[in-house]
Amino acid sequence: MLLVKWANDEWDKLKEQERAISYDENRKVRHPNSYSDKEKSELHKFRARMTEIFENVDKSICKCFRCVATDKNMTYNPVEKAWFCFQCYEEMKGVTAKKKTGISMRFP
Ligand SMILES: [Zn+2]
Repeated sequence: MLLVKWANDEWDKLKEQERAISYDENRKVRHPNSYSDKEKSELHKFRARMTEIFENVDKSICKCFRCVATDKNMTYNPVEKAWFCFQCYEEMKGVTAKKKTGISMRFP
């Protein structure tokens, strides 16, 4: 849960910085063509960081990768490199199982 809170705080900060660039002093959205190269590269950096934060939270133990539950018991799937709640894990195991063998390679 701490990680989720951290991610939200981080996200707000980045969003704030992003807004400082993408809005002008009259609080109007600026046309992307009016960005300087430095602003463009900063925006790119913020957005990449935002994506990174969310991927980290998604793949963390705080959240089930499939149903985004945060309050269930989780199990790690080394193939998908992500955490799943037990219910989703079992469901995915069934969905991804080979018809012939009944064994799932992705959810061992
Ligand atoms: Zn789940």
